[in-house]
Amino acid sequence: PTEQLEKPDPSRIDVAGVGISHPRRVIFPAVKVTKLDLARYYHDMADRILPHLADRPLSLVRLPEGIEGERFFQKHAGKGFPDAIRRIRVPDPDGGDDELLTVTDARGLVAAVQMGTVEFHPWGAKRDKPDRPERLVFDLDPDEGLGFAAVRDAAFELRNKLQALGLAAWPMLSGGKGVHVILPLRRTASWETARLFAQLFATLMAETVPDRYVATMSKRRRKDRIFIDWLRNDRGSTAIAPFSVRARPNASVAVPLSWDELKKQKRADAFGMDAARERGWDDLRLPAPNALNQTLLKRLAALVERDKD
Ligand code: ATP
Ligand code: MN
Ligand code: MN
Repeated sequence: PTEQLEKPDPSRIDVAGVGISHPRRVIFPAVKVTKLDLARYYHDMADRILPHLADRPLSLVRLPEGIEGERFFQKHAGKGFPDAIRRIRVPDPDGGDDELLTVTDARGLVAAVQMGTVEFHPWGAKRDKPDRPERLVFDLDPDEGLGFAAVRDAAFELRNKLQALGLAAWPMLSGGKGVHVILPLRRTASWETARLFAQLFATLMAETVPDRYVATMSKRRRKDRIFIDWLRNDRGSTAIAPFSVRARPNASVAVPLSWDELKKQKRADAFGMDAARERGWDDLRLPAPNALNQTLLKRLAALVERDKD
């Protein structure tokens, strides 16, 4: 095979058994983060990342030349992908199956970095039960010009409304502009049920406080409002993984928080790679998976009807 014909590259540096080529290549010039820094970050953070990422089908955001070069959103293996980035067969809803990617260990994460990966985007379901979501994501997207305080308030309002239905969620700074409110699920409901719940819930909030929230994609109606993006809650859609670095000039990180910690935050991209590493983690107790059942959906539907009048 051609691999054996290649000369050993003395400039490679080994991380977790993966040879990193061009280790000194600067991926993020503004904050001087190299490919090696990125590989070590994902290696060191594996214990925190993998519980949210391992064994989910993944999309990778690759920027082989760094933040100023081309970027690829990729869900199938590309040329030269090593085995540490696993291929998994996931049934298609229409009868066939699809060969998708996943990682299961630190080596997989580092191998993905070697292939130019910056961001990891998992499905909301695991490979063993792809038809049963393990989480819902309410992706809060503020209109341009809206400050972070408005996003924060929206996250708390969402949390309270979920709590009123007996559901416990946790917040994550996206590392970009917004916050994701994540509702962990027992893997009993179908995507159809979960999506309907997310839609009803977002619609309820938007109809109750129409001057602050919208639940539709329309750019025009979003003016000065927060879009409660529930549309990602589908089989096959993804969201940024907790502790993934973002492909943004400042190499900000998506960081899960306790609700108390969220109170003090001033921006969605507050955490860089060093801050993400250093923050406490053991003390963060994420809520247990919630059950989405018929009773809950009916209660929610009744609320939507009531609030329309
Ligand atoms: P921000 O807080 O700045 O909005 P974000 O990660 O929430 O950051 P969104 O554009 O709101 O960015 O997208 C939400 C999620 O939807 C992403 O994290 C990603 O997983 C998925 N997504 C976004 N764009 C695409 C795309 N072009 N193809 C596939 N999935 C996408
Ligand atoms: Mn978003
Ligand atoms: Mn969005």
